[in-house]
Amino acid sequence: MIRKITSIVSCIQKANDILVVGHIMPDGDCISSVVSLSMGLEKFGKRVTPAIDWKIPANFTVFPWIDRIKDFSNDVVEPNLIIIVDASSPDRIGRFEQLLRKGIPSVVIDHHATNTFFADDCWVDPSYSSAAQMVLDLLKLMDVEYDADLALMNYIGIATDTSFFRYSNVDSSVFEAAAELVRLGADPTFVATSILETRKIEELFLERDAIDNIKVLSNGRFAYSYLELEDFEKYSLTEDDFVGFVGDLRSIKSVEVALFASEASKGEAHVSLRSKSYFDVSKIAVAFGGGGHQKASGFTLRYDDNLEDALAETIEMIDSQLQQKEKH
Ligand code: 5GP
Ligand code: MN
Repeated sequence: MIRKITSIVSCIQKANDILVVGHIMPDGDCISSVVSLSMGLEKFGKRVTPAIDWKIPANFTVFPWIDRIKDFSNDVVEPNLIIIVDASSPDRIGRFEQLLRKGIPSVVIDHHATNTFFADDCWVDPSYSSAAQMVLDLLKLMDVEYDADLALMNYIGIATDTSFFRYSNVDSSVFEAAAELVRLGADPTFVATSILETRKIEELFLERDAIDNIKVLSNGRFAYSYLELEDFEKYSLTEDDFVGFVGDLRSIKSVEVALFASEASKGEAHVSLRSKSYFDVSKIAVAFGGGGHQKASGFTLRYDDNLEDALAETIEMIDSQLQQKEKH
């Protein structure tokens, strides 16, 4: 793996203008990886543009550099290198995919096992908790000096992709990386309160609707729910304002697999999947054109009729696979 990082460093050394791109529907790891890698590359003497082709969630605007993130509609200078972070396939980077098709040299830094190796040089390592932890190792290898802002931005992805040090992707290296970043100036309480304790009351009302829609199958081992566009509109919220409910479904004691679908626009929903110990939800996500990790994955569902009917095939697939596992 050292050889792979070294080849990424030599791509960086050769380029002057670098575009650092994250994925659509950005989460904490995506934003953290884009910003901390961009900050580090700037300290390394590069001209850098951080880029995400999506609206940045409002609770992230308190963090440094967020206003420097460009979407595709901004006039982005054509770079000599594109570095894609935390994205497992080219459709995940929105309209920036067009730059890949132009043949601009590209690098992927990612920790998803379902990565499709879609750049010229790909450093993909699913043993990492987060793309942000990979950024830390890369910037350390490049001898980049950390200030408190860089440490803070780098810390965010490690904290959020482990759900604040709870998930099975947590090992001693995660605590070591987090401790190092805290020593360098990251403030864990500021990160936790800015991300976890900034909900609008309408999000709790919406949660009430999501709870009303919960259904349980497979002898309690599969819980799912969904929200339709009208539910979001009722409270003037969008699906981006309501993340994390799939984790609540998984938190039910008997549950092994949780599914939550949110209708982003008529005929299109984002489906989030989670598992607790033995079920590989990434296989389900890949079967429907998405991807992710064994215990956290997702895909976009497109349909003509209503969301609940469109979900039937996925629900049936999960339910029958769980029943199979019970027999063995
Ligand atoms: P979430 O359910 O929180 O949106 O995503 C969970 C995980 O699945 C994340 O690691 C995310 O990158 C991945 N994921 C979610 N949606 C998609 C998708 O549409 N395509 C792919 N390839 N991965 C996805
Ligand atoms: Mn990630």
